[in-house]
Amino acid sequence: MATLLDGRQLAAQIETRLAGAIAAGLSTARRPPGLAVLRVGDDPASGVYVANKERACSRVGITSHGAHLAAATPAAEVLATIERLNADPAVDGILLQLPLPAELDEGPLLAAIDPGKDADGLHTLNLGRLLKGEPGPRSCTPAGVMALLGAAGVALAGKRAVVVGRSILVGQPMALMLQAANATVTVAHSRTQDLAAVTRTADVLVVAAGRPHMIGAEHVKPGAVVVDVGIHRKPEGGLCGDVRFDEVEPIASAISPVPGGVGPMTVTLLLVNTVSSWCHRCGLANPLADLLP
Ligand code: NDP
Repeated sequence: MATLLDGRQLAAQIETRLAGAIAAGLSTARRPPGLAVLRVGDDPASGVYVANKERACSRVGITSHGAHLAAATPAAEVLATIERLNADPAVDGILLQLPLPAELDEGPLLAAIDPGKDADGLHTLNLGRLLKGEPGPRSCTPAGVMALLGAAGVALAGKRAVVVGRSILVGQPMALMLQAANATVTVAHSRTQDLAAVTRTADVLVVAAGRPHMIGAEHVKPGAVVVDVGIHRKPEGGLCGDVRFDEVEPIASAISPVPGGVGPMTVTLLLVNTVSSWCHRCGLANPLADLLP
């Protein structure tokens, strides 16, 4: 029976660390950390995600500086809001919730976020820092996967890791982080031939293809560690991942469930990036640096 990589439990433990770090730094910093989640328009799923993030902030002691702009807001006004948040000394992290209304081009708006306040860790400068092994905010989902692997004691040095998916959001930074941990990394994508032959080489398999239930027992080497990043709403209700959990769990040595695996870790790493930025901006040592691979 595989060990469950329980993201809910680990997220709760990290939240305790975050609350402790904030309480310990408050007297020196003289203000709590602040996260601004900027939402434009009324995408219903975004509403749920933003509410989740704001609840997580309040649990650990981060002040939310959210702004919700109407769907018809012109790009110049969204940009002005980002610039106001960049200049606001009480704001340590800024997150532009995607997707934006179709009329808005996300590229220039994301680029306008101060890289030091980039709570998502996806600014071009911060992806470059990851590539070069320099400290900085890290992409939340892959950093969350690294935390899950670390907490489970999964050794990575010298192991074969396969990442399925090469998006900027997940697959690419995931591959860089695994490589930085001295795994030998292969990245598979939609043009990969004989995917099962590639994934069966993996000691650690991270699946971020966005294809419900695509990975089954035939893709997994017995004893492999399997992390499922995919999240899909099932037509009959509930969530599923990219991995056929029931099929893979009996042969894996460890596996993350959906829900309750990577998802909660993504939100927690957003908080870690924000508190790390607060420490940096307030001249405090960062007690969370081990969570930023
Ligand atoms: P993208 O659609 O941007 O990228 C998917 C990647 O998977 C692409 O690189 C694509 O290849 C590859 N791919 C697609 N089909 C196949 C296939 N049949 N075989 C091999 N590779 C394939 O998705 P994201 O990276 O943004 O997200 C991936 C999944 O993770 C989604 O389900 C998303 O909802 C979920 N997610 C979950 C998060 C969480 O917190 N748990 C956070 C972020 C995302 P190519 O490049 O060739 O097109």
